[in-house]
Amino acid sequence: MSDTYQGGCFCGEVKFEVSGTPASEGYCHCNDCRNWSAAPFIAFSLWATDAVKFTSGEASVGSYSKSGRSVRKFCTVCGANLMAALPGMNLIDVFPSQIEGFQPAPTLHISYAEKVMPVVDGLPKYSDLPAEIGGSGDLLPE
Ligand SMILES: [Zn+2]
Ligand SMILES: [Zn+2]
Repeated sequence: MSDTYQGGCFCGEVKFEVSGTPASEGYCHCNDCRNWSAAPFIAFSLWATDAVKFTSGEASVGSYSKSGRSVRKFCTVCGANLMAALPGMNLIDVFPSQIEGFQPAPTLHISYAEKVMPVVDGLPKYSDLPAEIGGSGDLLPE
């Protein structure tokens, strides 16, 4: 089973392709994601690094790394956010809303302790991160 999806930025300059299925999907409420995206929280989908490739406009992809843990990528023409590489985990967080035809299946919320907008959807709300990926594993009420 190898699904391939096309994605891109707001203006169409940058296009990319993702294939396979994501390792994890959910929502992040951390200050960094909120400040970067200008949204109250973001949706994420984590893909293996080699499952993501640019198909056009790669020269117009800008990157910015604040923490060193993630390299956030955006279109330098229209400013749209595209994805954030997580080199330490060999994963790329591709923003699901930038992938055409992809049906998101989120399973958790992370960094919920930093939330500014509560979400009542029945999914687990991790204070920081699940223990399997280095967090406390603590859960918070919705
Ligand atoms: Zn663009
Ligand atoms: Zn975040």
